[in-house]
Amino acid sequence: MRKPVIAGNWKMYKLIAESAATALALKPLVSNANHCEVVVAPVFTAVKTVADRLEGSNVRVAGQDCSTETKHGAHTGEVAADMLRDAGATYVIVGHSERRQLYAETDTFVNRKALAALKAGLTVIMCVGETLEQREGGIAERVVRGQLEGGLRDLTASDLDRIIIAYEPVWAIGTGRTATPEQAQEMHAFVRRVFADRFSQAAAARLRILYGGSVKPDNIAGLMRQPDVDGALVGGASLDAESFAQIVNYERT
Ligand code: PEP
Repeated sequence: MRKPVIAGNWKMYKLIAESAATALALKPLVSNANHCEVVVAPVFTAVKTVADRLEGSNVRVAGQDCSTETKHGAHTGEVAADMLRDAGATYVIVGHSERRQLYAETDTFVNRKALAALKAGLTVIMCVGETLEQREGGIAERVVRGQLEGGLRDLTASDLDRIIIAYEPVWAIGTGRTATPEQAQEMHAFVRRVFADRFSQAAAARLRILYGGSVKPDNIAGLMRQPDVDGALVGGASLDAESFAQIVNYERT
């Protein structure tokens, strides 16, 4: 009953022309993918062009981040959520581990971004996940619970259908080291329990939880067989239209 989401995070790659070319190459390759929502997240400067190229297709566009601020004003370098919407995005990623680690984003920040995005009508893909040190120290669940409780603060029941959680163990992002399907399932089930405690069983049953961390065409099917894995957030392997399409079309490969 939960429609999977396969989202590609293009990170800080591709100029506008390359982004447009990838979007155009992807479109026909995933046009029959009715089993899942397909999303791509280009850099800010390419969002409008990519959204225009994908208009009328089944591929949606996400921002990779948004501002905590909702009121337009003197916030140099920031992009407000309604500006992303204006450019054609309907999703936004918040709390990616690269932003948490490289730009010191806290759970409070992630929460404010999520609230701003919801206010602008965007669907939020909120990333959580532990570092290797935290996993080896036996505190992975405590870390993820803290990120969820902090990130979801002040959300109301009416917001929840536009919240997607991406569990991305930091040790698996861009490292070629994927969590096993069982490790992913274990944490996804935990995320759903935290969501049930915080909101309701019904909301938790509807929550889409994506796995992220070195997802590739050859490991997606095993991950998707897990009962609590509802899709993937894909970095490196989403940069190439063919390999991303193979991931989207995991049922047929
Ligand atoms: C990501 O950027 O969210 C990600 C999971 O990257 P990769 O697939 O390259 O590990």
